[in-house]
Amino acid sequence: MARIVMKFGGTSMAGTERIRRVAGIVKRQQEAGHEVAVVVSAMAGETDRLVNFCREANALYDPAEYDVVVASGEQVTSGLLALTLQAMGCKARSWLGWQVPIRTDDAHAKARIEDIDSEALIASMAQGDIAVIPGFQGVSPEGRVTTLGRGGSDTSAVAVAAAVNADRCDIYTDVDGVYTTDPRIVAKARKLPLVTYEEMLELASVGSKVLQTRSVSLAMKEGVRVQVLSSFIDDSAPLADDLPGTMIVSDEELEGSDMERQLITGIAADKNEAKITLTRVPDRPGAVAAIFSPLAEANINVDMIIQNVAKDKGETDVTFTVPQADLLRAQAMLEERKDSIGYYRMISDDKVAKISVVGVGMRSHAGVASTMFRTLADRGINIQAISTSEIKVSVLIDADETELAVRVLHTAYGMDATA
Ligand code: ADP
Ligand code: ASP
Ligand code: MG
Repeated sequence: MARIVMKFGGTSMAGTERIRRVAGIVKRQQEAGHEVAVVVSAMAGETDRLVNFCREANALYDPAEYDVVVASGEQVTSGLLALTLQAMGCKARSWLGWQVPIRTDDAHAKARIEDIDSEALIASMAQGDIAVIPGFQGVSPEGRVTTLGRGGSDTSAVAVAAAVNADRCDIYTDVDGVYTTDPRIVAKARKLPLVTYEEMLELASVGSKVLQTRSVSLAMKEGVRVQVLSSFIDDSAPLADDLPGTMIVSDEELEGSDMERQLITGIAADKNEAKITLTRVPDRPGAVAAIFSPLAEANINVDMIIQNVAKDKGETDVTFTVPQADLLRAQAMLEERKDSIGYYRMISDDKVAKISVVGVGMRSHAGVASTMFRTLADRGINIQAISTSEIKVSVLIDADETELAVRVLHTAYGMDATA
């Protein structure tokens, strides 16, 4: 017997029929002899709809009230899944965030889980009750409802798995595992049977939204075994216990497996950044700090940065990227400081995409970046900025060229599935 936490995403929970299929999967898992807890997302599109209501009600909404509104999507699906399970003869009950409780800090709309009381949950699971927990929500120190940021149900699931000491956390979604790149963009993407925490963390942080970044870092820290697999299956599909999906594993586990390590593990695209260029910034100590300090103080995350120095003129152009959601705030802030920074013009562009290739193989092999640059150049794709880490190379390109770039890079690194 094992203890399993199962998480179902929005597409899997979209409507009564799909919830019935989910309930069937949960029931089958329990009948295999396991204790189960289930974490659910709101129905697909529901969180977006609720966010829009908040915007319409008050453009500068109070994040605490925003949380009250957007957390409701998961309340509905957790109740519906419990009802459906009961209709199938299972013992099931819902546990809202405050009932577990899932304690978070008070950073509304992007709260962090601090601690989960697992005693009652474990006792109820041990009696054969299926615990259904809404993802995405928690309770603040003041007792108010909080949410964990978009895609946060993955993190709820991993946190619950860590708290109840689960043997495995299965993340059910609308694809049957983690692929070399988004299988909805590249038909030749290959499913990976195993991927390491470190690579998954990097892939998630550069835009592979199959798992929320925070869920991966939490799983890595707590040593939670995570599997990504499909909920769009019927009764004849193999049990999750047979590991039909992608397992997130440690480096040692991957080394010990018979999976051949490729140079590149995956490619991700992210269209959620925007580019800002300040022209003719004075080339003197303190100039760059004058640009980035106020952004940092306003909690605006700057990602890629390039500076071109015009040697003879004592001036430089500075280009960088910020999250699209923060573009207006960043522009306003820089406009206000135009004289103190001393730039000439501010140019911004939100039609950009960041394409990243990730793989631990890069540590020991040169030439990954140059293959990337050459491949894009051959297709006439212009690179606007570059950034690298130990296991990643990212480039900024025109958003219209995203799909082409991902496809040609996938081929160039020899990752295409042989059909
Ligand atoms: P859920 O609603 O179940 O949380 P998400 O939409 O958040 O699902 O994440 C699943 C989606 O992630 C897939 O439909 C796929 O388009 C996308 N995706 C992006 N990169 C990858 C990848 N490397 N492997 C698998 N799916 C990916
Ligand atoms: N429903 C939330 C969202 O759409 C959380 C989640 O599904 O992970 O962001
Ligand atoms: Mg998701």
